[in-house]
Amino acid sequence: MAPTQAEGKTLLIHEGRLLDPSQGLDAVGSLLFKDGRIEWWGQGEPPVKPNAVISVPGLVVCPGFIDLHCHLREPGFEDKETIATGTRAAARGGFTTVCSMANTRPTVDSRATVELVLHKARTEGSVRVLPVACVTQGQQGKQLAEFGELAEAGAVAYSDDGRPVADARLLRHALEYARALGRPVLEHCEDPALAAGGVMNESALAHRLGLKGMPAAAEEAAVARDIALAELTGAHVHIQHVSTAGAVELVRREQQSRRVGTVTAEATPHHLMLTEALVLGPKGGDITAALGPGAYDANAKVNPPLRAQADVEALRQALAEGVIQAIATDHAPHTLADKLCEFDQAASGISGLETAFGLVMGLVHASVLDLPTLVARLTSGPARIIERGLADQGLSGLGSLRVGAPADVTVFDPNAEWTVDPGQFASKGKNTPLAGWRLKGRVMATIVGGGIAYAAPGLAVQKAVEVAGA
Ligand SMILES: [Zn+2]
Repeated sequence: MAPTQAEGKTLLIHEGRLLDPSQGLDAVGSLLFKDGRIEWWGQGEPPVKPNAVISVPGLVVCPGFIDLHCHLREPGFEDKETIATGTRAAARGGFTTVCSMANTRPTVDSRATVELVLHKARTEGSVRVLPVACVTQGQQGKQLAEFGELAEAGAVAYSDDGRPVADARLLRHALEYARALGRPVLEHCEDPALAAGGVMNESALAHRLGLKGMPAAAEEAAVARDIALAELTGAHVHIQHVSTAGAVELVRREQQSRRVGTVTAEATPHHLMLTEALVLGPKGGDITAALGPGAYDANAKVNPPLRAQADVEALRQALAEGVIQAIATDHAPHTLADKLCEFDQAASGISGLETAFGLVMGLVHASVLDLPTLVARLTSGPARIIERGLADQGLSGLGSLRVGAPADVTVFDPNAEWTVDPGQFASKGKNTPLAGWRLKGRVMATIVGGGIAYAAPGLAVQKAVEVAGA
C-alpha cells in the first residue's frame, strides 16, 4: 500500500469537525496519527509536537469510508480496471478500504489468487483492499470453494457476485462453513430464470420502450430464500445491492422478528438516488425524444436495474432506519466498447467510486438523513459486517476514530459543489450516467494508515506544513 506513514512520524489533522458515529463523537477538534495508528484526538494542543500538519477548518473529518462491494477487475480484465487505477479512484472517492469482488479471470477461489490480489494491492494500490473470495469454485455453482484456506489467505467474506448461488442446498452448506469461520456470505439476489433476458426494471416504462424487464419478484424471491437459509443455518447472509421495496420489507421483517442467523443489507448510491427514467438518457430525458433501441443510455444499465421512485423511497427509509446498514458502490468499470452498443447488448454496471459520496450527500441536503447517520452507513456500518475478517487482519477499530485504530480518515466538505466529468476519473471506467451533473459534497483528503492517499488540489499543497525542528 503506497501511502503508509513512516515509522516514528506524526501527522496532525488540525481543527476540523470530528465526526465518528461509532463513539457518538461530533465536535471540533484535532486528530494525531503516529506509526499508522490514531494516537490522540481532542481539543487544544496535541500531547506531542507533530512532524506535519494539515489544517482543515470548516471541513468534516471522519473515519475512512469502507466499500463492501467493488469490482477492481484484476486479474483478467485489466482493460476495464486494475488494482492500481481502481484504488486510486477509491482514494479520490474517500474510500480507504474496498472489498474486491471475485468475478475476475481467474476467479478468486484459491489461496494463490487471494494472495495475488493482496500482493498487487500492497505494491500498486492506493488504499486497503480486502478480497472477497468465491462461494463456489470458478463461480460455477457446482462445488464449494475451500472456505478455510481462503479465510486464512485473507478473504473477509464469500460471494459469487455477478451471479447468485442458484443451488439452495449448496448455499446452505456454504453458510454452515462461513458461520464456523465468522464470515458473511454476500449474496447477489436474483432468481436467474425469472430475470433471464431482462435489461432494465420490469415496468410500464420497459413495456413502452420494448425492452425486456427484470421483475422485482426475481430479487425478492431470492432474498426470501436466503433469509430462510440464514435462519436454517444460523449464519450471516448479507444482501448485496438491495433495490426493491419488497426486498427491503423482507429484510426489515426478518430483522424485527428473527430467531437465529443474521441478515444485513447494503444499497448502492445509484439505487438510492436514481430511477429507471435515466434509461431514457441524461436527467431522465423525454420519452418522445428516444429514437428506439440504441438511443437509450447504456450507462444507466446496471444489475439489479434502476427501479421506480417508490423503490427509491423505500430504500432511503430503510437506510435511515438502519435496516440497510451500509452504502456500497458496486463500482463496475467497463470499457467504452462494452457500453457503445445496443442497449440490449451493453454490459451492466456503473463506475461509481468517484461519484458515490457526492451523490449520497444529496440524502443529507434533502433531509432524508442527518450527516452522522450517512457517515455511519459509510464507516461503522460496513465495518461491522466484516468485523471478524478485519480482526483477523489486525484491523480492529477500522471504521472508527478510536485511539489505537488504523489511521484511516476521510476529510470532506459537505457543501462544496462540483461537476461530474468522467474524463477526469482515475478509474479506467468512464461509464456513468452522471456526466455533467452538479453534486454537492466533495472529498478533500483521504488518509490511509497515516499516509496521504489523496488530497484535493489546494488542500494538502497549501496547508500541509513541515513543522520546523519537529
Ligand atoms: Zn451483483
